[in-house]
Amino acid sequence: MSDTSFDVVIIGGGPGGYVAAIRAAQLGLKTACIEKRGALGGTCLNVGCIPSKALLTASHHYHACAHEMGSFGIKVGKVEMDVAGMMGHKDKVVSDNTKGIEFLFKKNKVTYIVGAGAITAPGQIEVTAKDGAKSTVAAKHIVIATGSDVTPLPGVEIDEEVIISSTGALALPKTPKHMVVIGGGVIGLELGTVWGRLGAKVTVVEFLDRILPFNDGEVSKQMQRLLAKQGMAFKLGTKVTGIAKSGKKATVTVEPAAGGNAETIEADCVLVAIGRKPYTDGLGLDKVGVALDKRGFVQIDGHFRTNVPGIYAIGDVVGGAMLAHKAEEEGVALAEILAGQHGHVNYDAIPAVVYTWPEVASVGKTEEQLKAEGIAYKAGKFPFTANGRARSMNEVDGFVKILACAATDKVLGAHIVGPNAGDLIAEVVLAMEFGAASEDIARTCHAHPGLGEAVKEACLAVDGRPLHT
Ligand SMILES: Cc1cc2nc3c(=O)[nH]c(=O)nc-3n(C[C@H](O)[C@H](O)[C@H](O)COP(=O)(O)OP(=O)(O)OC[C@H]3O[C@@H](n4cnc5c(N)ncnc54)[C@H](O)[C@@H]3O)c2cc1C
Repeated sequence: MSDTSFDVVIIGGGPGGYVAAIRAAQLGLKTACIEKRGALGGTCLNVGCIPSKALLTASHHYHACAHEMGSFGIKVGKVEMDVAGMMGHKDKVVSDNTKGIEFLFKKNKVTYIVGAGAITAPGQIEVTAKDGAKSTVAAKHIVIATGSDVTPLPGVEIDEEVIISSTGALALPKTPKHMVVIGGGVIGLELGTVWGRLGAKVTVVEFLDRILPFNDGEVSKQMQRLLAKQGMAFKLGTKVTGIAKSGKKATVTVEPAAGGNAETIEADCVLVAIGRKPYTDGLGLDKVGVALDKRGFVQIDGHFRTNVPGIYAIGDVVGGAMLAHKAEEEGVALAEILAGQHGHVNYDAIPAVVYTWPEVASVGKTEEQLKAEGIAYKAGKFPFTANGRARSMNEVDGFVKILACAATDKVLGAHIVGPNAGDLIAEVVLAMEFGAASEDIARTCHAHPGLGEAVKEACLAVDGRPLHT
């Protein structure tokens, strides 16, 4: 096999692509990964999960120093925010992480090809380098892992200064006075939280009548209440009909989603966060006949195969939960299948986290879904007000809710609003992966005093026997 001929070539070096590449190489397949961004890690490491969490952590510390230390008996002098310093922290975290993936490629002998890949025929990819130079690589298996991009708002031009996408919101040079966030989903709430903590007035405009529309209804209500307490304003059931930009300002025109009188909102920053769409530009999929669905996602079967033999797809570009860890699981499963093993992803146990404060974490079915599907269930709930560790942290907002099958007690879903919810959910994901009953978690010894005791207590509550409420 020549240097331009591989067992597996992956187009896209995001969490789906780079993880698939590492796993394929571990399994002895000669592997290359083509990435055009100039840095590995995809949306997640460069303009998604990692920079947003770097800014969420930095702004959380700032807010805690400025407003919360007194309640712990700590006197703090004048606290000042250095936005440039905060961006420096974020840039360093991103750069260290992306370089880390390059190191992992070298360690695992994955060939990293910098450039844009286009499939010219099954088994053949043309790579265009930044300087326009073209080369060709051959592959037994081609994996499309090209991810997703920001969904634009029709008629609205994103300039990344006044009207921004999530990418612009991760790099603002100063705190806006009034940020209007269009979209009350995960990305809008996380980035609205960052700038709200740094002093911006934040107004969230959401078309639906609730924020976090994919979460359990009780979670959405609780989070709206808690975020409103933090100063975030909400205009729900409201649609944006236009944004007029004038210099460094924007006027957002909105009206009730159900119809009614229009009103305008003045802002100096508008964040468009209405979702993400599959990204397949320039891949040449029409030429090789790879089928897309109506929304542009690459269509695959249960083994990640497209309709063209030898071409596979994973991650955001195939739809489903557009999350980094889902893309990673698919990358591992596909690499194992290509190596003759039995890779598999359990889509019923994919956690989802919103990194606001408190955090929101969920896995499995919501109460609304169980009702719609006619599944009889029992719910157990435990508030963080009754958890000793949460009280010692002054973090008593939120609850753990466990949903279990009424007949078998098998855990069907978990919904947590609370401190470190994103880490607490792992226990329930593991339980679901093992097909555990809520009784199994309830009988598991949890360290005291720990936030995890709230998970145990919620499981006890499924059977009506919590010990601390
Ligand atoms: C602000 C924000 C915050 C987020 N926070 C989280 C979070 O906290 N947790 C979470 O799980 N998810 C989060 N996500 C979602 C997460 O980033 C994505 O689900 C994940 O990155 C998808 O991985 P992927 O490998 O499918 O695609 P991507 O990460 O999008 O990677 C695709 C890569 O393919 C490259 N590419 C595209 N076309 C070509 C081509 N023709 N040739 C070569 N290269 C190409 C692109 O340059 C890109 O680097 C967030 C997203 C955003 C925007």
